Amino acid sequence: MSAKVIGRFAPTPSGFLHPGNLLCAILAYLSVRARGGQCLLRIEDLDKARCPRTLVTQCLSDLDFLGFRWDGPILYQSERTAQYERAFRHLQDLGQVYPCFCSRAQLHVSQAPNRGDTLYIYPGTCRFLAPAEVEARMLLKAPAYRLRVPDQSITVTDRIQGSFTTNLAENPGDFIVRRADHVYAYHLAVVVDDAESGVTEVVRGCDILSATPCQIFLQQLLGLPTPEYAHIPLLVDANGTRLAKRSQAISLSSLSRRFSREEIIGTLAFAAGLIPEVQPCTLEALIPHFDLTRVPRTDLRLPTRFLTDSSGS
Ligand SMILES: [Zn+2]
Repeated sequence: MSAKVIGRFAPTPSGFLHPGNLLCAILAYLSVRARGGQCLLRIEDLDKARCPRTLVTQCLSDLDFLGFRWDGPILYQSERTAQYERAFRHLQDLGQVYPCFCSRAQLHVSQAPNRGDTLYIYPGTCRFLAPAEVEARMLLKAPAYRLRVPDQSITVTDRIQGSFTTNLAENPGDFIVRRADHVYAYHLAVVVDDAESGVTEVVRGCDILSATPCQIFLQQLLGLPTPEYAHIPLLVDANGTRLAKRSQAISLSSLSRRFSREEIIGTLAFAAGLIPEVQPCTLEALIPHFDLTRVPRTDLRLPTRFLTDSSGS
């Protein structure tokens, strides 16, 4: 028997849970449960202004409605500033962080053209400021802090997507670990939390895959273990159009007015290739035969009737 598997689902309640979030939750949960492990729930409400209490409460009740039963206490990132602070100090002691005084507008202007996508590469503007210059600027403006990244490739071996390699200096360049308003950045919080909770596997959306090397680099600097990763494909509609934007409009609350809990789970399980046809089912029923490697690498199609938002008709 290998060591205990510990997974987690970690939603950011800055909006309502939508089918993409739900699929992540289902796959993260089943992957762990199928191997007799524990699944934790972490609320990524680092940015309290974007994650009001009402949305946190709604998120918890939505997950409860679907039948998720989490192990251990729920972790709230908004309550863990001291832990992030400690990791940040560690990075400072290593000489890996430096203050960045760039305004949003400056960063926008200096953005280098890069292969036509939306990838942002920090040009290193504040990397070599003289200490006296830093001191002078500190008096005028609270800086963000960036992590100095090496010109080095880091590879993620992903259980669904295969191997993904990126050079941190090229993608994304020195990235922010603490914002000017003292809110710690997502990557820092995530690696601190995963390590402290003993997380051994991370199942989450494909949109984070390209940033995973940043998290692996942070783990290396902080002496933390790297969990196993599985990045699940994006959901698309019957025409192959990505739901990223549109799915924000299809909240679980609206789905649950039209479908039963079992229908919602069954439809998502079908989209992920877990069952051969759309049929109502429970999370429990999916556990025995679950195999994460059966989830395809390509976009996952949701049946049209699931996406027809009744509020528009
Ligand atoms: Zn800067």
